[in-house]
Amino acid sequence: MEQKILNEFRQDLVSGDWVLFATGRAKRPSEVSPNLESTAAKFRDCPFDDPVASGQEIIKIYPSEKDWQIAVIKNKYPALVYGICVPPKQNGPFKVAEASGFHEVIITRDHNKNLQDFDEKETLEILKIFKNRYREIASEFCGQYILIFHNFGLQAGGSVQHPHSQIMATPVLPPDVTNSVLGAEKFYLKNNRKVHEVMVEWELEKKERIITENDSFVALCPFVSKKPYEIRIFPKNMSPQFEATGDGELEKFAVVFSSVLKKLKKVLNNPSYNFFIHSAPIKVLGAPSVDVAQYYAWHMEIFPHTSVIGGFELGTGMDINIVDPDQAASELRNADL
Ligand SMILES: [Zn+2]
Repeated sequence: MEQKILNEFRQDLVSGDWVLFATGRAKRPSEVSPNLESTAAKFRDCPFDDPVASGQEIIKIYPSEKDWQIAVIKNKYPALVYGICVPPKQNGPFKVAEASGFHEVIITRDHNKNLQDFDEKETLEILKIFKNRYREIASEFCGQYILIFHNFGLQAGGSVQHPHSQIMATPVLPPDVTNSVLGAEKFYLKNNRKVHEVMVEWELEKKERIITENDSFVALCPFVSKKPYEIRIFPKNMSPQFEATGDGELEKFAVVFSSVLKKLKKVLNNPSYNFFIHSAPIKVLGAPSVDVAQYYAWHMEIFPHTSVIGGFELGTGMDINIVDPDQAASELRNADL
């Protein structure tokens, strides 16, 4: 029997959290079990080694098709399909929204060289493309959120081995973003300050969990780290939008970011990891009393994979962290590069 493809957002009636269903993605070739044979096969005909020849739908290619270093392509198995935003509909007691948006992949040329092996200049180039593509999508998108993220390694969900980052634009606000935006707003209304600023100020004063910093950015292991060796990078000016970062500032971000990835590689022996950029939502629905720029600061979160999630975490929504963030930060800070 032909199975129908389910591709929509459904909102949980109790928590209000949205879940994205994208059953068409189960067909992607990379979903085969990661045994050695299939890994070898993937290496032989990697779809990203020559995106033009392998028929990828190219959005941008830098600096040119012939000597390309970075390409932005459409995801062949998108979880979100380009389309106009329509308001959520009712389905029985539930709210359901169309899975419309953007789902693109940003690839770098060398199959065996991931971001932790990039120098600062190469890191800056990819960050500039993150920023530019974010801005382009934001200018034509009717939805609420754009997320840039990266998966490295099998444990982190990196289904294609070729280094790639992804950019997804969603019509609804993801649960984690909703929670952090609402929490930051609540803190601001009570204290008249950005919550991120208060947190970073304390960390800079304590100096116990700082990994590295320069005059514009600071990388740290949060006091309330959910995972071992979790890292956050903040702009010291607490600006709300990643996409508004000037190229000069981005250069300083690249220095901190690159150093942190190299330290992670050294301390945890090249772990699988995820990172993502949390920028202010491009649209907050309803009539917010305060502009999100007043109370939000953009940041990057990096999560190396050191353990798997278990029943306690699933049953409680509470993480158990087995590494003191002071210890994690100290190891990372002291790792010689
Ligand atoms: Zn490749």
